Amino acid sequence: MSIPFLDLKSINLRHQKEFHQALDEVLESGWLVLGKQTTLFENEFANYCGTKFAVGVANGLEALSLVLRAWDIGPGDEVIVPSNTYIATWLAVTHTGATPIPVEPRQLTFNINPELIEPAITSKTKAIIPVHLYGQVAEMDAINTIAKKYNLKVLEDGAQAQGAMYNNIRVGALGDAAGISLYPGKNLGALGDAGIITTSDPLLAEKLRSLRNYGSQIKYKNELIGFNSRLDELQSAFLRIKLNYLDADNTRRREISRMYQQGLSDSNLGLPHEINESHSVWHLYVVTHPQRDLLSERLKELGVGTLIHYPIAPHLQDAYASMNLKEGTFPIAEKMHRTVLSLPISPVMSNEEVHQVIDLTRKACSQIL
Ligand SMILES: *Cc1c(COP(=O)(O)O)cnc(C)c1O
Repeated sequence: MSIPFLDLKSINLRHQKEFHQALDEVLESGWLVLGKQTTLFENEFANYCGTKFAVGVANGLEALSLVLRAWDIGPGDEVIVPSNTYIATWLAVTHTGATPIPVEPRQLTFNINPELIEPAITSKTKAIIPVHLYGQVAEMDAINTIAKKYNLKVLEDGAQAQGAMYNNIRVGALGDAAGISLYPGKNLGALGDAGIITTSDPLLAEKLRSLRNYGSQIKYKNELIGFNSRLDELQSAFLRIKLNYLDADNTRRREISRMYQQGLSDSNLGLPHEINESHSVWHLYVVTHPQRDLLSERLKELGVGTLIHYPIAPHLQDAYASMNLKEGTFPIAEKMHRTVLSLPISPVMSNEEVHQVIDLTRKACSQIL
């Protein structure tokens, strides 16, 4: 029996009947973009997160960049980002014309180290984007305190942490706004590309509703240089269904992470660490090993699918060659990218599969000394 890294097919087939009903409903409504389903999903998602508003958009990257644009962040401005994140966080800044300023993570949590944020602030700094990496919430109290002191905006990148909490407050409600991807592989994933922004600021929400739709709120009247970044009715209808199962799915992910944590505690792997304030939703279960590539190769031979999140740090990508951030500039991020390995975790994994991954991972580890 082999265990895939992620079985998206099984995840979505659980809802096949409900999806078909939703499709029929949208077809029969005759309305496909910016209608009832999107408004309902926005309200339900805002309610879930504990914010006043949510604005559906085309994907997670644009969720982030539209908020920065709505705040008039652009050329000449700086935005603090983690040195270890999926490149989309950096791209969202770059697309506005502003400069991403990388700050190293804590080795223990993989999340941005608040102690290193203050030294990175300059007169050009406008915002901080903490990323809740792998499903664990960043240290939001410390980050918000710094932001207040320097009058900076806080934009959560919640792509990997739908439903996660920090001191019982949900991701989405922990900063000035959040950009949240709803890409199929995320904990709350559509059946295609999708994204959403949460905020409790009414002026920001209104501006975003305009920006996502050609800068227009009244048909053929354009008040802003807008974009086309809309969430469609069908994806909204599917997401409304999946939102009902998010908490149960996240609970199952937490159970699996506890089984891994116990089953692998006496192996020579570096195991993930959950901080007290954070209620992680375990988007990924990421271990570290000095011979990561060998370990993933062994696991593949044993029938266990793994992935690397991520193999190359953003500052070492060709796309950012012009920033001239050479190898050695961000040693913690670089080491992380060399040593991390993600084991399978998803709400459809059985206990048997989890135990099998544990046994085979221990076996693979013992073979690599
Ligand atoms: C997935 C992801 C994004 C981008 O989301 P898309 O919907 O693919 O544009 C942004 N940030 C992080 C941390 C992600 O994991």
